Amino acid sequence: MGKETGFLELDRKDRTYADPKGRLKHYKEFVIPLAEPALKAQASRCMNCGIPYCHNGCPVNNIIPDWNHLVYEGDWQNALEVLHSTNNFPEFTGRICPAPCEASCTLNISDQPVTIKSIECAIVDKGWEQGWITPQVPAHRTNKTIAVVGSGPAGLAAAQQLARAGHSVTVFEKNDRVGGLLRYGIPDFKMEKHLISRRAVQMEAEGVQFRTSMEVGVNISVDSLKENFDAIVLSGGAEDARRMEIPGAELNGVRLAMEFLTQQNKRNAGDDELRAAPRGSLTATGKHVIVIGGGDTGSDCAGTSNRQGAASVTQIEIMPKPPEKEDKALTWPDWPLKLRTSSSHEEGVDRDWAILTKRVVGENDVTGLECVRVEWQGGQMQEVAGSAFTLKADLILLAMGFVGPIKQGLLDQAAVDLDARGNVAANIVNYQTSDPKIFACGDMRRGQSLVVWAIREGRQAARAVDEMLMGSSELPR
Ligand SMILES: Cc1cc2nc3c(=O)[nH]c(=O)nc-3n(C[C@H](O)[C@H](O)[C@H](O)COP(=O)(O)OP(=O)(O)OC[C@H]3O[C@@H](n4cnc5c(N)ncnc54)[C@H](O)[C@@H]3O)c2cc1C
Ligand code: SF4
Repeated sequence: MGKETGFLELDRKDRTYADPKGRLKHYKEFVIPLAEPALKAQASRCMNCGIPYCHNGCPVNNIIPDWNHLVYEGDWQNALEVLHSTNNFPEFTGRICPAPCEASCTLNISDQPVTIKSIECAIVDKGWEQGWITPQVPAHRTNKTIAVVGSGPAGLAAAQQLARAGHSVTVFEKNDRVGGLLRYGIPDFKMEKHLISRRAVQMEAEGVQFRTSMEVGVNISVDSLKENFDAIVLSGGAEDARRMEIPGAELNGVRLAMEFLTQQNKRNAGDDELRAAPRGSLTATGKHVIVIGGGDTGSDCAGTSNRQGAASVTQIEIMPKPPEKEDKALTWPDWPLKLRTSSSHEEGVDRDWAILTKRVVGENDVTGLECVRVEWQGGQMQEVAGSAFTLKADLILLAMGFVGPIKQGLLDQAAVDLDARGNVAANIVNYQTSDPKIFACGDMRRGQSLVVWAIREGRQAARAVDEMLMGSSELPR
């Protein structure tokens, strides 16, 4: 513990954002980092708890008190080593993780939690700046070959761990660039994409081969992977988006959030319009946009719509409005249900809750959305009589989550068992599917989740594969 009285003397201070007026003119990140003295001071608030709940609340079990102490001491290089010992990509989580560790921090019971996420991000950003992050090329090669299907955070973490254990790893990715939802879902203003490319370069130097524009089950069969590789890791995500089944849902202007977000990320990457949007351009410019779904994806659609110059943005949600503040006595150290206002919401969005969509209005093109208010009691939803209303709409973006992995192609050919929710069935001890040669991790195994969970599962699946191939493994669990 750096400073015994830090938490008594100092208030929480966190990163701030650039002004919305300015940041809406571009797609770049707009978080203003804390200066080094402020970071050290914030790290000194950590109490080095006997039972560090933050460590348990973090899905990758980051060893948070240790790096807080090292940052307070100014020993950034060792802080980086501790951070990397549990997380392959802290620059991703340091930007876009909702930070369950902070909800679990002991200081969060009666005060404000330690600024864990900002400190994490500062450690790894400094590591890259200083050139401390270099490829970790394995001393020995095993001659074992592994195919990883999907290059989201789960596949990347699995591939990096397996390559560092000396295996020959090939990552197959159906998209033209690696990164999964980090690349083509999450907008650049939350996480710039050069961060993924930089890691891919590191991984290539460690021996990982990337084969992009290769859809397993379409461009190459699962049988051919089974013939040519000693093990296969399925990390293809949960890409099957939940659809809206109401009259008019087929009208022009009702589109999936992911079509919209992917196009903008491709434009940001410098792709021309034809490459960014081969099936036709989809933008919010000058339009009244309704985003259906109150989660992260919906918030990302709102931020992107405002950057494209939408006439208005409304985000609606079927569930009731959560409480502004949680009752910490009931919720700590768990992740609480409470109202979350993202930076995109601060940029200008009308939000409304407990709304059920009834009909999309329009001839060929959408012109409106008929809705009704609902009440929730005992988990049951009831329409409020006389509460019907119509929202003006030129573009309706469906951001209602994902029902699971896509079955056609990859999973049909792999013929592995699925669980009751339609995800690939595998436990979290050996990550092995019903086919002993095939493993599964990330959203493809657990369903729609978070980047930090994907990294955890990728790391753990890598260890399971290593154990299966070698009889034992030194990779961390
Ligand atoms: C819009 C949006 C915003 C989000 N924001 C956040 C956030 O702020 N913070 C957070 O923690 N989480 C966020 N999430 C969730 C997070 O992105 C996912 O939980 C995470 O990316 C899952 O990682 P994954 O590696 O399992 O799968 P994915 O990231 O989905 O990657 C799967 C990859 O597999 C590829 N693939 C699929 N099938 C095949 C095949 N047959 N052959 C070859 N390749 C294939 C896909 O093209 C994709 O690249 C967000 C999700 C969305 C949709
Ligand atoms: S729970 Fe909070 S105060 Fe305690 S060790 Fe973790 S970060 Fe430090």
